[in-house]
Amino acid sequence: MEKIIFKDDSSKNFDCDYTSIPIEQSCNIPAELGCNFTELGHIEVNFMQKTTEKDIVACGDNSSLMRSVATAVYGGNITGAMINNELTHENF
Ligand SMILES: Cc1cc2nc3c(=O)[nH]c(=O)nc-3n(C[C@H](O)[C@H](O)[C@H](O)COP(=O)(O)OP(=O)(O)OC[C@H]3O[C@@H](n4cnc5c(N)ncnc54)[C@H](O)[C@@H]3O)c2cc1C
Repeated sequence: MEKIIFKDDSSKNFDCDYTSIPIEQSCNIPAELGCNFTELGHIEVNFMQKTTEKDIVACGDNSSLMRSVATAVYGGNITGAMINNELTHENF
């Protein structure tokens, strides 16, 4: 990287830049099911990994700003527990 050129055509030299850029989902199913997405393109989930659509949960890179194996595993763990909880309530 050499520099950033701004909208007004001014520029500033940088060796590197860290930023959050919008992502594109590799799968259309969440959109087809009606899930909401964040401004950056992630599936919107709450702290229990629930999407805005009933009975649909999401975890991992598709719904997290922090792209790492640890975060995906953590989210997956919560997701599994939430699904188990809901199935238990439905069946017992
Ligand atoms: C180059 C690179 C290096 C990285 N290095 C590290 C690192 O050192 N440490 C670290 O913690 N993280 C690292 N990461 C990030 C880490 O790989 C991800 O955060 C993690 O794999 C996310 O897991 P996931 O299950 O959410 O998604 P993924 O691992 O991407 O799994 C999603 C799966 O869904 C499949 N899929 C997509 N669409 C469909 C569909 N329509 N039907 C069926 N299957 C579908 C894909 O083929 C894929 O197998 C790295 C990522 C990249 C790209």
